[in-house]
Amino acid sequence: MAKKVLVSGGAGYIGSHVTVELIEAGYDVVVADNLSNCDMTGFEGVKKITGREEIPFYQIDCCDYASVDMLFTEHKIDAVIHFAAFKAVGESVAEPLMYYRNNLVSFLNILEVAKNHGGCNVLFSSSATVYGEAEVLPVTEQTPRLPSTSPYGNTKQMCEDILRDVVFATSSSDAVINGIALRYFNPIGAHPSALIGELPRGVPNNLVPFITQTAIGKRECLSIFGNDYPTEDGTCLRDYIDVVDLAKAHVAAVSRMVEGRMKKGYEIFNVGTGRPVSVYELVSAFEKVNNLRLNYRFVDRRPGDVMAIWADTKLANEELGWKAERTVEETLASAWAWEKYLAGSGNN
Ligand code: UDP
Repeated sequence: MAKKVLVSGGAGYIGSHVTVELIEAGYDVVVADNLSNCDMTGFEGVKKITGREEIPFYQIDCCDYASVDMLFTEHKIDAVIHFAAFKAVGESVAEPLMYYRNNLVSFLNILEVAKNHGGCNVLFSSSATVYGEAEVLPVTEQTPRLPSTSPYGNTKQMCEDILRDVVFATSSSDAVINGIALRYFNPIGAHPSALIGELPRGVPNNLVPFITQTAIGKRECLSIFGNDYPTEDGTCLRDYIDVVDLAKAHVAAVSRMVEGRMKKGYEIFNVGTGRPVSVYELVSAFEKVNNLRLNYRFVDRRPGDVMAIWADTKLANEELGWKAERTVEETLASAWAWEKYLAGSGNN
């Protein structure tokens, strides 16, 4: 029988791509989402891509213990991928209570319910933000985490630690929790079908949605935050990872857990390409591959930005048997195809 994966936050940007890849790899998937930061576009897209009309969807809030408990009662869950969380750094600084309550309580509920139902495999969606302004690049999983500069970043660090402690405490019990934290670098792009992609609410904080919205005429001009960094072209360096490649890393991690191939009860993997790309290079590549000119200007640095971060991907490559495959050009073409699809579908 197919293994069953609960995807919390499965209607969102990364969750929808992960749901597609899980289904295509033969998993049964249950999606839970409170739709606080997305609508049903992503989930409808998932159904179209996979041709599966019957994927179970629950509009529930993981902060509600009884709702999470109901999911585990109705389904025999082999693994949980936990995405359901707020993710805007700036907003988290303004609304720390909202971030701590939402991001911590939902994860605590998932873990507690999983434990009360006899244990489970839990994949936590973490972030390279835990490394902060790392001194040595690229960062490995052993690179020390630095004190976070935002409540959002704090919740990622705290949830990693909670998972580690729960794994340790349950390891010799009859309700074992196994855990993997995937630390994402900068996920960008869209599914090649252009039926799912990133759908930010309001003015995008992230670079690529701002680029595509500028190209389509929804925003007047892209501001490039800082061209006086000590990098080759003066702009920041990031590790932009294609969202479908990222989704495949989740399938590899879930398979490792459910097939009993973990080397420790709690494992951490960087999920990136290992390739630093500057903001300016990314903008130029977008213009070139899509054959258009983007309106942009250089402005002051954005407070809180680190100059450079990219991943050492050796551990993920070797242990997960996974590697990022799409080129940055292919990914940027997919992001543009998605923006055009949105414009045509009246969704934007
Ligand atoms: N960036 C930019 N203009 C924007 C948004 C982002 O120049 O409108 C830059 C930002 O300074 C950073 C990179 O793009 O160097 C990636 O930013 P993003 O917010 O997408 O991800 P982050 O790395 O901050 O998580």
